[in-house]
Amino acid sequence: MVRKVDLPPYRIDRKVLKRFDQRQNVFGRMLWDEKAAFYKKGMYENVAKIIAKNQTGYSRVEFARALGAWTVYDYFHGAFSWEKLTKSISVIAKPVLEKYPVTKPTIISKQVKETSKIYGASLVGICKLDRHWIYSYDIDGNLVEIPEEYKYAIVIAIEMDATAIKTSPAFPACTATAIGYSQMAFCVACLAEFIRNLGYKAIPMGNDTALSIPLAIDAGIGGLGRNGLLITPEYGPCVRLCKVFTNLPLKPDKPIEFGVTDFCKRCNKCTEACEVDAIQSETEPSFKVVCLSNNQGILRWAVNYDKCYSFWTENAGDCSNCIAVCPFIRNAKTNAMLSDKIRR
Ligand code: SF4
Ligand code: SF4
Repeated sequence: MVRKVDLPPYRIDRKVLKRFDQRQNVFGRMLWDEKAAFYKKGMYENVAKIIAKNQTGYSRVEFARALGAWTVYDYFHGAFSWEKLTKSISVIAKPVLEKYPVTKPTIISKQVKETSKIYGASLVGICKLDRHWIYSYDIDGNLVEIPEEYKYAIVIAIEMDATAIKTSPAFPACTATAIGYSQMAFCVACLAEFIRNLGYKAIPMGNDTALSIPLAIDAGIGGLGRNGLLITPEYGPCVRLCKVFTNLPLKPDKPIEFGVTDFCKRCNKCTEACEVDAIQSETEPSFKVVCLSNNQGILRWAVNYDKCYSFWTENAGDCSNCIAVCPFIRNAKTNAMLSDKIRR
């Protein structure tokens, strides 16, 4: 049962919560944290050894396929440009029309959602931009400053191939993850240009610039699970998240509540599926942090990302075990029926 609620279904201690420094996540710490077991350890260092073992799902071809799927996210930098794109390979000049007057935020919000879906979004929500969720510094140590005029975040979830994810931690699951990322880049790049073509500003982003999960909760896309991931009613945690900040006047959605925390209290499937005990088994969530990559001041089951990322380096690929086993993953028919009911 999904209900729309007035406040996001998370508890934070505003006296303790600080904007997260992206250099604290495992990919940042890999570069500077000499005390971390994964210091200077690339994710794919073990790949030749892993392939040589001839295990199912770990072939040379499957690895090449997984890396290939990252191409748009990793190499198409224009996808995350803060400015309108100008360098085109097309000889056809694009007209710049007068600014589109927005008189009814409700109507343009509906059009933004329709457009996002056309560009590949599975779920779309809108929230007022809570600046607590913007990173303080990016992974390169640059101060992150979002001008005040960016009042809204459009948050997008892209469904991943659940069948491939269920092969986790083998390479086909890594391919599904990477496809999700490249689809994110395509979707936010096109959506940002759509907004700019109306005469407004847009900052498209993947995992950079701000924390995606709390923004997705604020935008009514889902709730936070024991596995530290966003759980959506339609696809469970089997989604990737991206977002666009904008000054286009929009109508925010309400957050939703559908009992994720209560369900997680009774379900430990992700804890059991994690090969390195990175997910807590305590019944109740708490404010306890378990590694340097957890930010303080949030009630949840904090995940030990040190253990998690160390497993990824051993596996020579990312892992989705805690997504694959989650009972909130449903089939496509149920997804569509649920979405019709919830997102009206
Ligand atoms: S991604 Fe894998 S290693 Fe990391 S917490 Fe989930 S199950 Fe554990
Ligand atoms: S597997 Fe169970 S405990 Fe883990 S996030 Fe999903 S519902 Fe919650």
